[in-house]
Amino acid sequence: MSSTEQTQQHVAVLGGGPAGLMAAWELVEAGYKVTIIERDDKVGGMCATLKFEGKHGDYRFDFGGHRFITHNPELLKFVDELMAEDLLYAERKSVIRFKGRIYQYPLAIGDLLKNAPFSLLFGAAVDLLLLPFKKRPENRRDSSFAEWIETRFGKTLYKNFFEGYTGKLWGINPNRLSADWASQRISLLDLKDVARRLLPQKKDTPRTYARKYRYPKLGFGHLYTRLGEELVKKGVDIRLNCNVSDIKTSDDKITAIGFTQNGEEHQLNIDSVIATIPLSDMCRMTGYDSGLEFRSLRFFNMPMEKENISDNTWQYLSDPEILGTRLQEPRRRSPYMAPEGQTSVMIEIPCNKGDEIWDMEGDKLRERVLTDLETLGIDRNINTGEYFTAYTEHAYPLMDVDYQDKREKAITHLCQFDNLVMSGRQGSFRYIFTDTAMEMGQLAAQSIIKGEDRRREIFDFRNENVVLEVQSVA
Ligand SMILES: Cc1cc2nc3c(=O)[nH]c(=O)nc-3n(C[C@H](O)[C@H](O)[C@H](O)COP(=O)(O)OP(=O)(O)OC[C@H]3O[C@@H](n4cnc5c(N)ncnc54)[C@H](O)[C@@H]3O)c2cc1C
Repeated sequence: MSSTEQTQQHVAVLGGGPAGLMAAWELVEAGYKVTIIERDDKVGGMCATLKFEGKHGDYRFDFGGHRFITHNPELLKFVDELMAEDLLYAERKSVIRFKGRIYQYPLAIGDLLKNAPFSLLFGAAVDLLLLPFKKRPENRRDSSFAEWIETRFGKTLYKNFFEGYTGKLWGINPNRLSADWASQRISLLDLKDVARRLLPQKKDTPRTYARKYRYPKLGFGHLYTRLGEELVKKGVDIRLNCNVSDIKTSDDKITAIGFTQNGEEHQLNIDSVIATIPLSDMCRMTGYDSGLEFRSLRFFNMPMEKENISDNTWQYLSDPEILGTRLQEPRRRSPYMAPEGQTSVMIEIPCNKGDEIWDMEGDKLRERVLTDLETLGIDRNINTGEYFTAYTEHAYPLMDVDYQDKREKAITHLCQFDNLVMSGRQGSFRYIFTDTAMEMGQLAAQSIIKGEDRRREIFDFRNENVVLEVQSVA
């Protein structure tokens, strides 16, 4: 063994999603020995793309359509260079479907006047007048989503656009959901902003919403399979189908990672760990029950015998009676997502692992989804008869009203291990986009390379009260 090999530090990266892959990139570039341990049979995590061979050809489905936007020019350059001509520009067009009506998103005055019922317009106008007299909760941390939205947007908009959708998405009453969800997802501050934005905008008014975005030709996951290939070329050891099941510790250090592969148990001795797997799982494997939970998603993917269903990237399905929260047509992002002349639909259905939806037999779920599509005016007979479903267990960190306290205790517990850096969306228990997960992975690696404890900074990285899209450079 050469002296370089003898002194080379070995870092285990747990999870091969965007955060783990970017951490590995930084580490291998800095001369570290890196092993990625990934449970799935591919890298990419929630950003992976699945291929389906249908009777008309190949279809591709993301785990819920993704798009790449960032405000970080260096990261954008990295992605541009990695993907070169395989990166497309797509344009977003979204609508909200509610009670048989279709509203443009973001809201536009002409469209609202044309489509909204009088009761909604009247109610929102009265709420706008009464808004200055309503007492707002001072502290986001101590208030619920329902209270936060009602005191900012009024009861009418809350009831029409937020209550049903939010309850369906999270599976809990919005008055048990933390207001953090609102501040991170809803770019407009209150009803006055809505009203202001409905007026014709000056040319130089900044947009709160990124219309253009990057999207790889063969699905979002194409970006991460390419990144994985480059990492292997650089010497990173990527172990797929390996489930991290045990964390060995001694005093304040992690000494080894236990994982199972094809039913066999293995152990990897390491110097440091970057973990992008769920915060709650890392706590459990080190002897602490955090009480943190995730909301899951089941995706229902169907080839359709038609060239296009609509020109919308996203259709938000607000009615509580409709099972899914979003309907997407993957070829709106890239024409390569379906065979020529054909299209497909993907429905995102929120659930909890092991509940009725998660366990529902495929044909039964298909029947239910086709009935919902009919309600939305989509002909059920254009489905080729084929379908497949996919699952994401840790889709959304459940931000209930107590989550901040539970998260803080979990962080304190894990920070006792000096050589562990948590990172990424599941690892930090934060609702973050892909670019932030990638940046977090880079930061985690940098903290090891520079020997600095930046864990608190990473947990709260980009925790601004603005929706990221506002500042997108894409
Ligand atoms: C429906 C939906 C739509 C989204 N749309 C967008 C979008 O349009 N744009 C955007 O930027 N972001 C979007 N996101 C967010 C994006 O998916 C995440 O920000 C990103 O995937 C986070 O990357 P990560 O590496 O932190 O986590 P993940 O992608 O979750 O990766 C974690 C990895 O850890 C692995 N793992 C977990 N447990 C174990 C274990 N015990 N052993 C081994 N491996 C394990 C998992 O298999 C996974 O590969 C969306 C998310 C969802 C759910």
